[in-house]
Amino acid sequence: MTVDLYPSSWADAASAVREDGTVVVAGGTGIQPWLNTATARPTALVHLSRVAQAWDTEHSAGELTIGAMVAVDHPVLTPCFGGEGIGWFATPAVRRRATAVGNVVSRLGPRELATPLVALGARLHSHGHAGSWQSLEEVLREGLPPGRLATRLRLHIPERIVYHRMSARRRLSRVELGVCAALGPGCGAAIVIGSGAAAVRVDTSDSAAANFVAAIRAQAAAMSDDARRIATVTALAARVHRDLHGRTGR
Ligand SMILES: Cc1cc2nc3c(=O)[nH]c(=O)nc-3n(C[C@H](O)[C@H](O)[C@H](O)COP(=O)(O)OP(=O)(O)OC[C@H]3O[C@@H](n4cnc5c(N)ncnc54)[C@H](O)[C@@H]3O)c2cc1C
Repeated sequence: MTVDLYPSSWADAASAVREDGTVVVAGGTGIQPWLNTATARPTALVHLSRVAQAWDTEHSAGELTIGAMVAVDHPVLTPCFGGEGIGWFATPAVRRRATAVGNVVSRLGPRELATPLVALGARLHSHGHAGSWQSLEEVLREGLPPGRLATRLRLHIPERIVYHRMSARRRLSRVELGVCAALGPGCGAAIVIGSGAAAVRVDTSDSAAANFVAAIRAQAAAMSDDARRIATVTALAARVHRDLHGRTGR
């Protein structure tokens, strides 16, 4: 039988998730469908909703820190998704519950917030981890170890951000290829190649269009040997650069 645990502090939550067979629940939008099909039942679901600090948001020196229960559609995150907003992600009902932290640490879903968040230089804090803060890129690459609790995410607030991507269908379809770039201290560019793949930061310190596109193309070629995908990412990069430095970004 699965028990539901509602710790009220990070310390209690962390000690609960150290037990074998426990599963963390934030917004539950990834967990619920998984529970419907999972063959093995968790011994306990450790809900984070009563950890008060998990709902915190904080602005400081151009950076935003959000707790592990902050939902994708929270207004503090609006500047992170540019002029088009976050309407491309899931449905309104899912966006109200799905957390940004849950998105990037989940092994159950496509982690589609990761590309803009890597462009914003995001770092993840996990409870009890030596050093505590890890770059989001590293977390995406290596995954959060079992039993580890992500407590908050910190990112740079962009002056402007543009994210262009390709999916099989226009709505409710997984992102296959994406290029995001942001302007402002600590901000940069990131690309993703393949649904659910780890987003990768690209050094685009030279903002000239040709050099920006060349840097993205080189990274795409390092990540894929599919000429059509590389060409599509290169075309997305040209559009991102145009919109970032033109009128259609935020
Ligand atoms: C209809 C529908 C549409 C969706 N559309 C999209 C989409 O467009 N793009 C997309 O990327 N995803 C999508 N998803 C997947 C999911 O909604 C997102 O990944 C969401 O952001 C997960 O956040 P959550 O808070 O609901 O995570 P939960 O479901 O609570 O958890 C997801 C996983 O992450 C772990 N986890 C969560 N928080 C923590 C934490 N703080 N520390 C350690 N582990 C943690 C959980 O144990 C679990 O394994 C969709 C889901 C549904 C049901």
